[in-house]
Amino acid sequence: MLHRRAFCTCASLALVSSLTSNSARAVDAACAVMTRDRQHAITPDEALARLKAGNERFIDGKTINCDLIQQAKETAKSQAPFAAIVGCMDSRVPPELVFDQRIGDVFCTRVAGNFINTDFLGSLEYAAKVAGARAIVVLGHSDCGAVKGAIDHVKLGNLTATLAHIQPAVTASKISGERTSKNAALVQAVAETNVKMGVAALTAKSPVLKDLVKAGQLRIVGAMHDLETRRVSFMA
Ligand SMILES: [Zn+2]
Repeated sequence: MLHRRAFCTCASLALVSSLTSNSARAVDAACAVMTRDRQHAITPDEALARLKAGNERFIDGKTINCDLIQQAKETAKSQAPFAAIVGCMDSRVPPELVFDQRIGDVFCTRVAGNFINTDFLGSLEYAAKVAGARAIVVLGHSDCGAVKGAIDHVKLGNLTATLAHIQPAVTASKISGERTSKNAALVQAVAETNVKMGVAALTAKSPVLKDLVKAGQLRIVGAMHDLETRRVSFMA
């Protein structure tokens, strides 16, 4: 009996040890910083799959803890992010957290209302053409204050010009009901239209990005983050 118990304990320990080392290996793999070789091995579809898997971890509260100081050390001399994300400045939608990514994994360009202008185009051309990012995600979100401001024609200093970038999406969104930010369906529709317009603008206004897409080296997709559910829904 004593032997049997001892055997069980050893077997249990071996099992725990095996599971621990398996999960440790998974964490090690997830925490390995992006290098140019690793980035090149990732297809555009796989880049999007990595972001989707990261969002699932975020939703489930199973984000991976990495040694950020070690990652910072390993990326200090170079970077090779596998994706770029165009996001809103909203404090509740930090792309790295929403997609459970870490140092050196993704470029993030952010502005109130996640619209596309020349500065964003240039930044994203660098991200994809020079630095080798394999996917660009234009990420809008629910209950966006910038979208609400555009709908309500808010005027305030330089913010007036910023919100003007979202106005085409307001005009294009044909939703019944009052044309104010109190109309939740309108707010959501404008946010989604704004993302779709951003995605279209990336290839329409950038021959550099268009060529990369045509060559199968880059995918550009829109997505919406739901603040209530934490889920990112991809549009393609
Ligand atoms: Zn926003």
